[in-house]
Amino acid sequence: MPTRTVIVPLGTVAREIVQQVALGIKEAFGLTVERGPIQQKPTYAFNKDRHQYHSTAILRRLAQLKAGAENLPVIGLAEIDLFVPDAPFLYGEADRDALSAVVGLTRLHEEHAGRTADPERLKRRAQVEAVHEVGHLLGLSHCDDVRCVMFFSQTLADSDRKGPGLCASCRAAITA
Ligand SMILES: [Zn+2]
Ligand SMILES: [Zn+2]
Repeated sequence: MPTRTVIVPLGTVAREIVQQVALGIKEAFGLTVERGPIQQKPTYAFNKDRHQYHSTAILRRLAQLKAGAENLPVIGLAEIDLFVPDAPFLYGEADRDALSAVVGLTRLHEEHAGRTADPERLKRRAQVEAVHEVGHLLGLSHCDDVRCVMFFSQTLADSDRKGPGLCASCRAAITA
């Protein structure tokens, strides 16, 4: 199990969001979080037909970054809308073998159940979705407990309900 992870903003990401994500990862897993160098917005992954960014292409690119000296898990954050070909959208994706993950923030700004995504709510959503993806990098799968951060968010309601931490059985799985 790694003891450190690296957060990499892809394009401009609000500093408060990066800070909250870093804090969330530290609290959930006890990892030391480093800030990687800001990368460009991943225009190479943009699909003109869908007006979305292909997350798998981003993971591949992030994996090259991580290949640097220490092979640390890398999580990218970007103000973009992610997709994979067989899903309309994703809040995030992780590739455990490549040790890279990405969270797309665009959809997390959306209003849900009449509640606008005020700055606090947005930060919390970014936190739980990033902690979720790091959980995958550390070997966790999806969890059936709707309050657990490893529950798979299909809607913002899921995201707002869960986390920011692991349920007892996911916690046990990670320390086993
Ligand atoms: Zn997941
Ligand atoms: Zn769980």
